[in-house]
Amino acid sequence: MTSSRPIVIIGAGIIGLTTAVRLVESEGFDSSEHPVHILADHLPNDPLDAYYASTIAGAHHLSFAADEDVNQRKWDSRTFQVMHDEWKNGGEKTGLMLLKQTEFYVGTDNHLKIYEEHPEFTVLDQSTLSNSIDHSISFTSLTMTPAVYLNRLLRRLEGKVQIHRYHLSSLTNLNHSSCTALIGISSPLAVFVCAGIGALTLGGVEDQDVFPTRGQVVKLKAPWIRSGWTRQVGSLDGGEGGERTYIIPRPDGDVIVGGTREQGDWYPYPRPETTTDILRRAREIFPEIIPPYSVHSDTLSPLDEIVEGVLVGFRPSRVGGIRLEVGEDLYLGNEKVTVIHNYGHGGAGWQSCWGTAEDAVDTLLKALS
Ligand SMILES: Cc1cc2nc3c(=O)[nH]c(=O)nc-3n(C[C@H](O)[C@H](O)[C@H](O)COP(=O)(O)OP(=O)(O)OC[C@H]3O[C@@H](n4cnc5c(N)ncnc54)[C@H](O)[C@@H]3O)c2cc1C
Repeated sequence: MTSSRPIVIIGAGIIGLTTAVRLVESEGFDSSEHPVHILADHLPNDPLDAYYASTIAGAHHLSFAADEDVNQRKWDSRTFQVMHDEWKNGGEKTGLMLLKQTEFYVGTDNHLKIYEEHPEFTVLDQSTLSNSIDHSISFTSLTMTPAVYLNRLLRRLEGKVQIHRYHLSSLTNLNHSSCTALIGISSPLAVFVCAGIGALTLGGVEDQDVFPTRGQVVKLKAPWIRSGWTRQVGSLDGGEGGERTYIIPRPDGDVIVGGTREQGDWYPYPRPETTTDILRRAREIFPEIIPPYSVHSDTLSPLDEIVEGVLVGFRPSRVGGIRLEVGEDLYLGNEKVTVIHNYGHGGAGWQSCWGTAEDAVDTLLKALS
């Protein structure tokens, strides 16, 4: 490696931050030799924004990996393992909550094989289910509170990585003086593209396979809920199809209920009729969501009194799934910059982040050796 050339990570969502952690903590990596910089439009404690998916997400670990999708299964399983260890060592202050997850299926009698790897996996007895449910399973899983988790990653990077709010319009602008003022005048040795939905417009990437899958969710205050519930109508089919309703509790008593999956929909604000529909579906799958003390009037639904907010985000989806590979070489002047892509995580960025971060860092280290 040529000395002092920085390594740049574009993006400070869950993908950019886990990639940064794995890079600076990898054996033999010396950040004084190769300073690491994150460049990002959005940073973890910003006001919520649909274009910053990591802060809008539920989030729970519920894989969509098709049985034959070896890579996605590996990334999701590895992430569960890492997060489970974090929870075991640090409890709920890590931003993680361990819980019993129940999945109801309508219109299919099948579940994804990956769920069988979870602790306490059980197929529920059909005779105990309502007639509208065709199949049901339960297992142990995890939920994540994005703000807590992302801030913990920031603390892990303190003193090792410099983080800059900076909009990079094109990879070739890495040697523009507004950028070299932040990262130094030596051309980067390597760049990780962890730009989420930004990979669609970032010059030098402009991946036309990237598209938003709009998600609207409702945040409730319901500390009596300590288990996760999901109803899938229609086949998941290893993707994100069908209609999915979910209830995701967090350790602080907040509960995220959702959701929607509107492909190609860039509307960044809540739609009131969607909020009503989400609350109706949530009550159908878990009636205990209604406050035990509910005293609603005729004009309010029993959930209105515990609604804290409605959030909208764009899942960074991609035709063909996650892009994790070495990109075309970039030349800044005469210097070659290795480009590693790690984006396009769709609705699965939280549950696959550590798996993809480790593969992205390995890919770089191999490319440089
Ligand atoms: C409603 C909803 C629910 C979800 N639920 C779950 C769930 O339960 N489980 C799960 O695993 N996933 C879930 N997801 C998906 C998950 O949130 C995403 O897959 C994940 O956040 C993607 O992370 P990211 O870091 O790639 O993108 P983001 O979090 O969007 O971050 C992108 C980063 O790149 C920066 N950036 C982009 N372009 C540029 C540029 N040109 N210059 C500088 N910076 C740039 C941005 O500023 C930002 O810092 C959900 C998403 C939504 C919207």
